Amino acid sequence: MPFSVTILGSSSALPTSERFPTAHLLNANERFFLIDCGEGTQIQLRKFRIRLGKINHIFISHLHGDHIFGLFGLISSFNLIGRTATLHIYGPDQIEELILDHLEFFQNDLSFDIAIHKFQHHRSATIHKDTNVEVITIPLKHRVPTCGFLFRERQAPRNIKKEMVEKYEIPIRDIVKIKDGKDFKTNEGETIPNSELTLPPFRVRSYAYCSDTAYSEKIIELIKNVDILYHEATFLHKDEDLAAETLHSTSKQAAGIALKAEVRKLLIGHFSSRYKNYDTFEKEAQEIFPETTAVNDGDVFTVSRIREKGTAV
Ligand SMILES: [Zn+2]
Ligand SMILES: [Zn+2]
Repeated sequence: MPFSVTILGSSSALPTSERFPTAHLLNANERFFLIDCGEGTQIQLRKFRIRLGKINHIFISHLHGDHIFGLFGLISSFNLIGRTATLHIYGPDQIEELILDHLEFFQNDLSFDIAIHKFQHHRSATIHKDTNVEVITIPLKHRVPTCGFLFRERQAPRNIKKEMVEKYEIPIRDIVKIKDGKDFKTNEGETIPNSELTLPPFRVRSYAYCSDTAYSEKIIELIKNVDILYHEATFLHKDEDLAAETLHSTSKQAAGIALKAEVRKLLIGHFSSRYKNYDTFEKEAQEIFPETTAVNDGDVFTVSRIREKGTAV
């Protein structure tokens, strides 16, 4: 049951020969969530061998080109390969108008339906929930309505030990109760404690995506203790003024947020193409938050599956 993030693009507005504009792919237990869709995202998906057909949910943080220009090409390719499954697209208010206008001009006979889910950008809300994962918006501070996204696994029930089911001949009707934490009473009246019958559930894994944003401590509460935080770091700290002016962050600001939110790992990206050397981003951030990685296109970050009491599996 994987929980991993693939970086498809790590540049900001201008793509470079090494870096595509922003897009991430989260694999949460074999469900695939595309997060932002900068120009060329479909090329990156092919390069990193991710089947287009696996993507049913796309989350767009805001309507700046470097986060959405790739969506239109991707929709066109979905049509060319004969997609039939509904495509769910989540984004800020104006996304519906943008997509419908585009489709009216280029493509009004798609082979599949598009369900557009608009979110309010000024308050946090749960915008998607399935049996495995829930997705919660993180309002960000940027020049246009913008939200990041928190992907969090849903708490799984305790795992019942197969040998215990056989040993005590536990009927099916009692299994659900035991998974919820109840003890079991045998026909002879003996009470078997739940701890003997079950293994603790797996720890809930989480990924928070925050791009684009100025430094904002308001997000800390929402991203507290996540396993992986991605926070944009468009500028080096010497260009702090430029970051403030354009409502972006510096590497040190991203690290400051990670430290205060007590996350396990920080990823930084969305680098401005004005810089020639990206090592400095990582060094600057690590001075504040050592568990920082400056991402490259194609990097994959995995959160392992651990039982609550701490046993890795
Ligand atoms: Zn951007
Ligand atoms: Zn932006």
